[in-house]
Formats: sequence, C-alpha cells, structure tokens
Amino acid sequence: MASITLSGLTKTFGTFTAVKSLDLHIADKEFLALLGPSGCGKSTTMNIIAGMEQPSAGTVRFDDRDMLNVPMGRRGVGFVFQNYAIFTHMSVYDNIAYGLRMRGLPKAEIDARVRQVAELLGLTPFLKQKSAGLSVNILQRLAIGRSAAVNPQIFLLDEPLSNVDAAFRAVMRTELKHLQREFGQTMIYVTHDQLEAMTMADRIAVMDRGVLQQVGSPIEVYNNPVNTFVARFLGSPSMNLLPARLGTEDGRPVVEVTGLGRVAAPASARGSADVLFGIRPEDLTITATDLPGAFVMEVVFVERVGPRTIVHLARDGQELKAIEGNGFPVAIGDRLGVVAKPESVRLFDAATGQALD
Ligand code: ATP
Repeated sequence: MASITLSGLTKTFGTFTAVKSLDLHIADKEFLALLGPSGCGKSTTMNIIAGMEQPSAGTVRFDDRDMLNVPMGRRGVGFVFQNYAIFTHMSVYDNIAYGLRMRGLPKAEIDARVRQVAELLGLTPFLKQKSAGLSVNILQRLAIGRSAAVNPQIFLLDEPLSNVDAAFRAVMRTELKHLQREFGQTMIYVTHDQLEAMTMADRIAVMDRGVLQQVGSPIEVYNNPVNTFVARFLGSPSMNLLPARLGTEDGRPVVEVTGLGRVAAPASARGSADVLFGIRPEDLTITATDLPGAFVMEVVFVERVGPRTIVHLARDGQELKAIEGNGFPVAIGDRLGVVAKPESVRLFDAATGQALD
C-alpha cells in the first residue's frame, strides 16, 4: 500500500510562495498527473514528496506515516527527471540491474527483473549495448527502466518525455501506462502538456501560481472546469470564452453573447450577471445563416489539420473557433451560422473567472 496525502503543504523561497496550502490525496496505485504551466510549483511539490526539499509548512504522509523526518533514500520513492541520469559507461543491462544489485538480490532474480522491465519498455534489443551511443529517446526510456526495476511503491516522474521527439512521446505514453498497471505503483507524473495528462492519468491535478485549482478525472476536468484558467489550459484549441450577460426571457435563463446573439443558458443558471460564455470548439456546429438562434459570423481563417478542420470565425471584434471534420467545405470570407450545443455551454463569473453552478 502506498497512498500519499499532502496537507496544507506550503513552500516559500524568501518572500516568494512557490506552493500554497496544497491539500491532495493520491490513492494507492493511482496515476495522478500534476499539470500546470511553467513555474506553477509542480516540481517543488514533487521534490518535497521525494524528500529533496523540506516544506515551509504542512505534512506529507505515505499511508499513515509522516514522512517529514524520513530521508530521501528511505522513502521508497523512484524518481525520473526531465534530464536522464544514466551511467554511460555501462551497458543497458547493467544500468537496469544497478539498483537491484545495490540491494543485493540473487542473480537469477535480477536477471528476470531486468528482462521483464526491458521487455515492457522495448529495451530488449539494446540490452548488451553501451549506453553512451544510444539516442536520447532510448536513454530516457532507460532512465525510466532503471528506476522502475527496483519497483518503488511510489514512482515520481517529472516531465520525463519533454526532451524526446513527438512520435516517441506518443509511444511512451502507452508504455508508461502499461508499466504502471503491470507494477501497480502509485505514480505522480508532472507535465505542462495537457495531452499527456489527459491520455495517461486516472486523475489530473491542475495547478496555477502555486495553488491547486482543480482535481478530477480527465473528463471531469475537461467538461466541467471550475474556472477560466482550467478551461483555457485543457483542450486544444482551448475553450472559447466570450463576454456575455446572463438574464431571463419568459422565465427561462438566457445568455446574451455580446455582439453575437442570444442563446439558452444552462437550466441551473440564475439571476442576472456579467459572465463569460464558454463553449468548446467541438461543441459548435456550423449551419446556414438563417437557422433561428445561430450566430452569424465570417470565416477569417481555416486550419486543416489531418482529421479536423478548425474554423476561425469573427464578428464585431468577437472571435470563435469551431471544429469540423476532415475536408469540411469552408473558405475564408464565407458568412456562416454557428450554433452552440445548449448542454455544453459553461458560464463563468466575469469578475472572478469562477464557474457558475
Ligand atoms: P517548471 O516546469 O518550469 O519546472 P514548475 O511548475 O515545476 O515549473 P517549480 O520548479 O516548482 O515550477 O518552481 C515554482 C516557482 O518557484 C518558480 O517561480 C521558481 O522560480 C521558484 N523556485 C523554485 N525553486 C527555487 C529556489 N530554490 N529558490 C528560489 N525560487 C525557486
């Protein structure tokens, strides 16, 4: 068992607060992605969990054991950084075996373990090679394999794929997920890449400026962002957010989107307020201009990216992006109708950016 509980975790550097009152529970065998922009405090949080940094306040528990006075080497934590640390004079085999030999395990057990890890990570063909001549992609895979081999109950990975190329990153996302399932580790994976977080994690914890913004399954966080920061950070292209006014018409809540028109608001919306109207690009449908309720807009740019056509629309200084399928017939200068799926509309307080219930 290895759950992790962070309570009131705070880290200051001089007058700067890098992590602020962080409360977070990571269940045993859970894969949690810690997601946020550069400088938001992700690495600092990881360093505290690993025991490389002491918090200024708060506690770290593994199950019910307080870890604050437990040194790094005794926490049972595996750690992989952005920049791999590999013994280049050793073979791939010896690198993976290193931690196991340090633990004095029997030779046959070490051999079986090295081969299992190598197989899971696609390193079998390289086992006899010296690490010095290997590509960055393979070296990073090896760094993960070497840490995973000793089967730490808690495995911390800090941007492990940021230096590898895009095609390899896609392969590694699947392999890391397999590795974690196979070994049953509790894994925290730091990334600023929302795609990595969305594809691998059981839950995503989104941070901004040292503060935890939201924790939930990838779908929860994507579909119901608690504020405009999370709404913008997840999704590519990100959620459209336009100034609007919430009100009522015939007793029903409606949103007047500035300069575009009026649409039904979510049934739970109440009162009148300045809001931001949020809609994901894939929840907009392009229609004829005379469809009742459609926003009439002009196409200002078209991106054709493989299976998707991203249509940029504008009117009176307001801009929207809509996603349609491959080969969608549209050209710059077209006037089109745009309809938002009512159930996908999200409203945020214009002043605070918090989602309205
Ligand atoms: P990145 O992806 O760029 O590493 P991050 O989200 O992991 O970003 P941290 O590395 O945790 O962020 O840093 C959070 C903030 O704390 C940054 O503004 C950083 O400059 C600051 N910081 C981190 N370590 C120290 C330190 N030892 N002394 C002073 N400031 C620090």
